[in-house]
Amino acid sequence: MGRRKMQITQEAIVIRERSIGEDDRLLTLLCRQEGVITAYARGAQKMKSTLGPSCGLLAYSTFQLFHSRERYIVDRADTINLFFGLRQDIEKLALASYLAEVACVTAPSGQDSEAFLRLLLNCLHFLEKGAFAPVFIKPVFELRCLAMSGFMPDLVACCGCGCYEAEKMYLAVNDGTLWCGECVSGPEAKYMALTPGVLAAMRHVIYSELPKLFSFRLSDEGIRYLGRVCEAYFLAQMGQGFQTLDFYHSLSGMEAWAAANLPDRAKEILTKGGEDI
Ligand SMILES: [Zn+2]
Repeated sequence: MGRRKMQITQEAIVIRERSIGEDDRLLTLLCRQEGVITAYARGAQKMKSTLGPSCGLLAYSTFQLFHSRERYIVDRADTINLFFGLRQDIEKLALASYLAEVACVTAPSGQDSEAFLRLLLNCLHFLEKGAFAPVFIKPVFELRCLAMSGFMPDLVACCGCGCYEAEKMYLAVNDGTLWCGECVSGPEAKYMALTPGVLAAMRHVIYSELPKLFSFRLSDEGIRYLGRVCEAYFLAQMGQGFQTLDFYHSLSGMEAWAAANLPDRAKEILTKGGEDI
């Protein structure tokens, strides 16, 4: 058993947080070196606490952590980026919260998590700046996280005959295997059909280097379908649902309803919040 230092410094982002009593918070942090850890932030909910801003969901900071009796306690935190722009757009914030939860269940604990941290920070940055649409960022993040955490689908070739590409290819969402139209068999519910474009996009997301992760093109329809496939595969692999995902989806329903039913001014308030009104 390795001995741990009593005090460590980690760059980390808050990927989950909840209140403990009136004053404290329990944080789940994605740390550059230590992966996913939980840490107590004592007094973080008090008005005068210097920890407050650094302990909110999605805050990225340098944390000084005190490690004692198998638990971490936040001693100090210096904010690097609060991703303030995400907090002004409910769709972006909803997706960012879901991405944080995906990181929570896929990133490792107690080991180097540089790749996960960089991926999450990049995606939050793209989302905040509007570099890519939420519907594009979501499947790329889900699939890449799965690939990095031992759930990489085997998209090299058809499991049956070894062909690389066919007019129709299918992903088995329960085990991540790939099948061509000739070899696929079994209950239909298990498979999702992949167009050549969607399959090429999935291969790119899995095998490309991080700086090139978003360097691929797909039609709007293709991106929406990629979203369905990656979400189905993610949920099948995790074996559970996610409240943040349900909330993100509920927003698209709300937008459609608002577009059909509300006058423009009310839509603005709904989508942009109550500022300047
Ligand atoms: Zn085949």
